[in-house]
Amino acid sequence: MLGGIEAGGTKIVCAVGSSPDHILASHVVSTADPATSFQQVRAFFDKAQGAHGRLGAIGVAGFGPVDIDPGSPTYGTVQRTPKPGWKGANWVDGLSRLGCPVMVDTDVNGAALGEWRHGAGKGHATLAYVTVGTGIGAGILKDGRSLSGIGHYEMGHIYPPHDYESDPFPGRCPFHKDCLEGLASGPAIMDRWGVTLSEMPPGHPAFALQAGYLAHLAATIILTHMPDRIIFGGSVMKAPGLMERLRAATRILLADYLPCGPAGGDLMHYLVPPALGDQSGVTGALAMAEARTGQAVK
Ligand code: ZN
Repeated sequence: MLGGIEAGGTKIVCAVGSSPDHILASHVVSTADPATSFQQVRAFFDKAQGAHGRLGAIGVAGFGPVDIDPGSPTYGTVQRTPKPGWKGANWVDGLSRLGCPVMVDTDVNGAALGEWRHGAGKGHATLAYVTVGTGIGAGILKDGRSLSGIGHYEMGHIYPPHDYESDPFPGRCPFHKDCLEGLASGPAIMDRWGVTLSEMPPGHPAFALQAGYLAHLAATIILTHMPDRIIFGGSVMKAPGLMERLRAATRILLADYLPCGPAGGDLMHYLVPPALGDQSGVTGALAMAEARTGQAVK
């Protein structure tokens, strides 16, 4: 049996499955303080182990920043997050009473893995996954393994050009103000206009602004990683028409520099939504557990 956790800023999705695409039980708890959340998560897995058998491992696809280096003494520790109480919380310690190995990666790397195994990333050697929701983040997989450096990537915090005349909003990132996340996350849209993008009429200028900001991340990922495909998920991307505008804005930035191959043309099959909907992260978390138990990842 495999355990999987997708931990976001507002909710934590827990699941057990016999394989990543065969979930037998799942449960959602709201993200509270770490002690309360860990206790609720453990209660679900205790019950699930009683019903379905012992877990071989648990994968955690969690919000960052988090230490994802398995060789680090602080593996699984949540780092400088604005989420109350979570700085210094450790997933491995918090779940240790369940008695199985705990694998930790970022929410976006987990979602990328889920899509690579069973969704829109199938068969793509280099895959990028971007989420645009409460925060903005991106993960890159090479042959099913997430890439990182001295830490996981923080691509949501790049600085797109910010024209204060057309967009006087100062940005809301607590660290950088008008980085991409500060300008284009769900909360930034709410701060600026008081409604979500999905609630605005299709011709609202918010769409062009949002697509323009996000296109800088798409173009940056393309130029630095040359992925086979980029998946854009998250609550903001569900706004009707945003994906089409993002493709168009990305094409303008690329300026026919890559006319051939998948990153050329209309980007219809290159910049795509997730195929697993809201299940990408938990599917990836189960795949992380599966890899740890030694079952083949392919
Ligand atoms: Zn930032």
